[in-house]
Amino acid sequence: MAQRIVLASSNRGKLAEFNALLADSGFEVLAQASLGIDDVEETGLSFVENALLKARHAALVSGLPALADDSGLCVDQLRGAPGLYSARYAGGHGDSAANNARLLCELDGVAAERRDAFFICALVLLHRADDPTPLIVEGRWHGRILDAPRGTQGFGYDPLFLPHGQQVSAAELDPALKNRLSHRGQALAKLHARLAELRG
Ligand code: IMP
Repeated sequence: MAQRIVLASSNRGKLAEFNALLADSGFEVLAQASLGIDDVEETGLSFVENALLKARHAALVSGLPALADDSGLCVDQLRGAPGLYSARYAGGHGDSAANNARLLCELDGVAAERRDAFFICALVLLHRADDPTPLIVEGRWHGRILDAPRGTQGFGYDPLFLPHGQQVSAAELDPALKNRLSHRGQALAKLHARLAELRG
């Protein structure tokens, strides 16, 4: 029987993505909301810390192994901002249009070669709340910030992100290709490989 594992996220897209990826690792991924678990306050100072906080809370409340991710955009010229505050860079949580407008404003007049940035995704798997050896992986997707939005697919900062090696923004990329190249895709592939290693 599949090992049930709780995902410390309320995002339906992520649940489907994690379930598809982890099915052959013997896991069935459940949304924390389906177990009545609330979001925890993200008080960490790094993506890994926040993912750990979320996974630990979900494991503690559910008594099950827990998986959590934390992601965001880091811009070199802005010393890593919006970083941990990516979802609420312009104030309100998840207002992508306002976040993108603020990012463009902060980088106004900055030349293309100084607009390097990367998306980052930290993934943490805890076997139990007091697991002293969490499985931690990270994916990074490098690129640069455009000076105007392009494309309508994806979400968040995708219209402003030109991935290295691509001619189109993340919001113009085929979604399946984005999922393979992205920070989250890279982190998920690493998690999958680590779980396979652990199974031997
Ligand atoms: P979360 O970790 O899924 O809550 O993501 C935090 C924020 O980072 C999101 O609200 C987006 O603003 C940004 N972000 C994370 N991943 C992506 C991505 O793949 N494309 C665009 N924006 C992203």
